[in-house]
Amino acid sequence: MLVDGYKRKVDYLRISVTERCNFRCQYCMPEKPFSWTPQENLLSYEELFLFVKASIDEGISKIRITGGEPLLRKDLDSFIKMIHDYAPELDLSITTNGSLLGETAQQLKDAGLKRINISLDSLKKETAHFIAKKDVLDSVLKGIEAADRVGLKIKINCVPLKDVNDSDLLDLLEFCKQRNYEIRFIEFMENSHASVKQGLSSQEIQEIIKTKYNFTKTPRIGSSPSQGYILDDGYQFGIIEPHLDDFCKDCNRIRLTAEGFLIPCLYFEDALSIADAIKEKNITDAVNILKIVLQNKPEKNKWGSDNSSDRAFYQTGG
Ligand code: SAM
Ligand code: SF4
Repeated sequence: MLVDGYKRKVDYLRISVTERCNFRCQYCMPEKPFSWTPQENLLSYEELFLFVKASIDEGISKIRITGGEPLLRKDLDSFIKMIHDYAPELDLSITTNGSLLGETAQQLKDAGLKRINISLDSLKKETAHFIAKKDVLDSVLKGIEAADRVGLKIKINCVPLKDVNDSDLLDLLEFCKQRNYEIRFIEFMENSHASVKQGLSSQEIQEIIKTKYNFTKTPRIGSSPSQGYILDDGYQFGIIEPHLDDFCKDCNRIRLTAEGFLIPCLYFEDALSIADAIKEKNITDAVNILKIVLQNKPEKNKWGSDNSSDRAFYQTGG
């Protein structure tokens, strides 16, 4: 079992397989000029898998693959299959913008994927275009349809932005409710890469939903940063309130970037690399580095303090 310096059990690994993306979401990506980490600095799937195996052996039971846009990395299904074949019972999922799912959903399902989170910020073509700086809505909706058709369990992520998509939230909730997808509204996290300035607070999101629905809070489950709500008819949605730190006491996660950095908390600058150890196939060293990073995991996120981090979400996987 993996335990951090505050005796929290850590069993959730989030892996970013690439920082590249085919969207330029205003809340995530910087404006140009832009330079990507060279491809040769990325760990290969085989190298990532060496670490994945070791971390599963140490007690990781949940893995999320993210990015950047994870489906931009070629043959992602082969990586999913490696993990699924090694640990078929593992809770394995990906977070994607959905645009490439039309072509890949079946391969992902065949590789063993069961769950998927898809980002969808608006059902209006112009608004989706404005946010992603690209005409994306048709490809995302096609991707959601394909994921549903092949039987992947879908959750939708939406970042509500002031005067941008606030008038879309009820439509998005309705869209998800009709299809029985859980929707989670994520409070915008300010960062210096984003060109958008203001998101809606949890309170403001709730005010909008209240104009149409009665709902009540549900008890927080485990270590999820998402606060659940239930409508009178039983449909459940969530709001992720990352500015708070009340979920930190149950935090069970650790992040690995495509270059091999282990990040103990989104809002904490310190990270250590396992890249050299993994390239030398020195698994003992990689696991020791993991344990050092876990010892250094902060008790609470450092949001707003001096040693918070300004890494962008596309680099850490959010
Ligand atoms: N490209 C994929 C996607 O968009 O789903 C996966 C990576 S993306 C960084 C993961 C999640 O982070 C998305 O749901 C996205 O909406 C969210 N995100 C990105 N930047 C954010 C920010 N500044 N504040 C809150 N959520 C953000
Ligand atoms: Fe790309 Fe996802 Fe960031 Fe949007 S949120 S720019 S889709 S990585």
